[in-house]
Amino acid sequence: MNVLEVSDLKKHYPIHAGLLRREVGRVRAVDGVSFHIAQGETLALVGESGCGKTTVSRCILRALAPTSGSIRFDPGQGETVDLATLPKRALRPLRRHLQMIFQDPYSSLNPRMMVGDIIAEPLRVNGVPAAERHARVLELLDLVQMPAVARTRFPHAFSGGQRQRIGIARALALNPRLVVADEPVSALDVSVQAQIINLLLDLQDRLKLSMLFVAHDLSVVRHVSDRVAVMYVGRIVEVAPTDALYRTPRHPYTETLLAAVPAPDPMRRGRQMKASGDVADPAKPPPGCAFHPRCPYAQDRCRVERPELTEVAPGRWASCHRAQEIELAGVA
Ligand code: SF4
Repeated sequence: MNVLEVSDLKKHYPIHAGLLRREVGRVRAVDGVSFHIAQGETLALVGESGCGKTTVSRCILRALAPTSGSIRFDPGQGETVDLATLPKRALRPLRRHLQMIFQDPYSSLNPRMMVGDIIAEPLRVNGVPAAERHARVLELLDLVQMPAVARTRFPHAFSGGQRQRIGIARALALNPRLVVADEPVSALDVSVQAQIINLLLDLQDRLKLSMLFVAHDLSVVRHVSDRVAVMYVGRIVEVAPTDALYRTPRHPYTETLLAAVPAPDPMRRGRQMKASGDVADPAKPPPGCAFHPRCPYAQDRCRVERPELTEVAPGRWASCHRAQEIELAGVA
């Protein structure tokens, strides 16, 4: 059963110019993205800055209104709703089922509120009585491995990792159906990142969380995700079960991202091609395959014909004309 089904999602921003401010073009921040998240599954959405992954997550949370497409969400009441077209008023009661873990644990917690009040805030807004709130806050602090005494302190008393634990406790307060984690460890030190990833793994196991985990590289998502979707210039270019994607990528851009993943034993790593140049501009994407100016495997066809996302093996999808013929290097 799917908690979320995103179909052909687009978010375009018109570009206006001239005296009459005529529309002269469009920034195609998200341009036809489709994926699903099953109950209890974590999907990682990965790509460099500007690829559209954050725009996708903001459309799901309806912080942005999509240009077109559908976002079918199952809030657990027997019927799915299309978040893409729902009026704001109808969205309000659904928000409790859809929570977010923010990237920056320093700016996402109100410095003037005690930790207990921060965690209890979504409970209060949703009418949970004070006595129940108190018990639930203690339960949530325990869940994220923080001492009960933390509830009477202010956020500044805690490290970045501890603050992220508080943010996670707040996101889980209402037992959401789906958690959107927006680069939840990228603002933390590497040693602390591992602790938060371990916490998320523990929570996945205990709570059977369904999660969209947004990340800008592949170094942190391997252990936390069941499947990975790789985005490039507003489109998904590869989707696969996590282990398969790391071992045998089927899109050259995925190989490029894998080349940046620190390897425990670099000598055992395959020969990975690195892409040169910058990410394409979504206002002026290159013709054909948007990755062709950076792709070491590009051929003439790639420069004129855009590849569609097609199933290249059971459960594996890639948008590359040469997905079946080139052998790409993964990581063990
Ligand atoms: S379609 Fe061509 S340019 Fe695009 S990723 Fe595949 S080989 Fe590279």
